[in-house]
Amino acid sequence: MRVFDKEPVCCGVCRREATGIGYMPPGTKGRQPVLWLCEEPQCISLGRGIFHMMPKTLSATEALALQDAGADAGAYLERLGKFNLSELSEKEWTNFLTTILNSYGDNMRKRVTNAIAPF
Ligand SMILES: [Zn+2]
Repeated sequence: MRVFDKEPVCCGVCRREATGIGYMPPGTKGRQPVLWLCEEPQCISLGRGIFHMMPKTLSATEALALQDAGADAGAYLERLGKFNLSELSEKEWTNFLTTILNSYGDNMRKRVTNAIAPF
């Protein structure tokens, strides 16, 4: 789901903290919401593509990126040999969550890049 916060809150691509950078179509100042972005150069370059992406395509892309993140987090648990989350140490739990967060952003950037690549 596209996020149009009034102020920069979440990046419209990776959901990390947004800064003051955003995208709106040229010539629409004040008449269009702003898609806020983080400082990751790839997110900045993907802002236009996300802004114009069909909602169904965006939702499907987000769902796939979330699945990717889950697979990466599962692989982390496999490396630990722990499958009961209550057995994770505090550090392992933080690593598990960070894996999901970072993997989601990485995979959104990858999948959106592929989805909007010119053919
Ligand atoms: Zn971002």
